[in-house]
Amino acid sequence: MSNNHMVLRDTCPACRSRNAVMLYSCDYCAEPIRSYVDRFYSTQGHADFEYLKDAAYVLDECKDCGLVYQRWVPDEDLCARVYNEWIDPARILDVRMKSDRAKASLAYAEELLGIINRLKSGSNRIRMLDFGMGWGEYCQVAQALGCKACGVEVSQERIDHARSQGIEVMSQDELPESEFDYIVCDQVLEHVPNPLSVWQTFSKCLREGGIAKIGVPDGKGVAAQVRSRGFHWEAPDWRIPGQSGDNPVSPLEHINCFDVTSLVALAESFGFQRLDMPLRSQYVCVPALDVRAVVIRYLKMAKRRFLASTNLFFERRGGPS
Ligand SMILES: [Zn+2]
Repeated sequence: MSNNHMVLRDTCPACRSRNAVMLYSCDYCAEPIRSYVDRFYSTQGHADFEYLKDAAYVLDECKDCGLVYQRWVPDEDLCARVYNEWIDPARILDVRMKSDRAKASLAYAEELLGIINRLKSGSNRIRMLDFGMGWGEYCQVAQALGCKACGVEVSQERIDHARSQGIEVMSQDELPESEFDYIVCDQVLEHVPNPLSVWQTFSKCLREGGIAKIGVPDGKGVAAQVRSRGFHWEAPDWRIPGQSGDNPVSPLEHINCFDVTSLVALAESFGFQRLDMPLRSQYVCVPALDVRAVVIRYLKMAKRRFLASTNLFFERRGGPS
């Protein structure tokens, strides 16, 4: 491949194994990938195929940890172009601000109350980090609950917006050691070329006994689907900002596709142990005398229990690794 905007990953980005099999390969300028990429970005900005000439979308499956991953990933420059130009931040922010922010804030508040309860500490003593904080809404809710919150983010537009809302923003390199009681990292690990370096950061800056919440699109069954049906996803008309969309192996963006097994294996390799957070602790606000609202709440809890399996909590055991 002679494209110089893409970087080869010739080992598994989660366990460094070389024991992988190729699941799928298609040039970016060939169908069905070209149409997918074109349509995917046309509703958020636009894709520039000049950068994808002679590049291929290749999916590999690690035979050791089970991760499905894109072999070729955009380099730093192309990444910046995809996330800041192909996706227009102003359009994303506009859609986000028009969405139901109160509902999203309630979900964040309930999750945070469950964490505060679990940490058995006054909220004003809890220092939390949102790694890949986006526009900083989770940090804002944490601050409203009394926690000391800060975020890490690569997009300058999002950093500027979060700062304008009073959120402290740090770079990954300047995060202090054993500083945080709680780290949330939601819909981030599937995007990063090197998830191991992210976990090294968690391992460094989360205190022993601290909690990490990791959310990624659920890649359960994806390898089998690709084997039997090839690339069968259609680009959505509009991907709701902050949500993963329907495609856990979306070209250029969802470059790591975890299921529970591969995510837990990665966490355990850094001394993190899976925590079973009672769902009831995360759904504390149930309106009285509103049967419909109560039923919806319990259905959501059941869905999270049985379906949305890659929103996981971990406790950090042991010292830095
Ligand atoms: Zn692996």
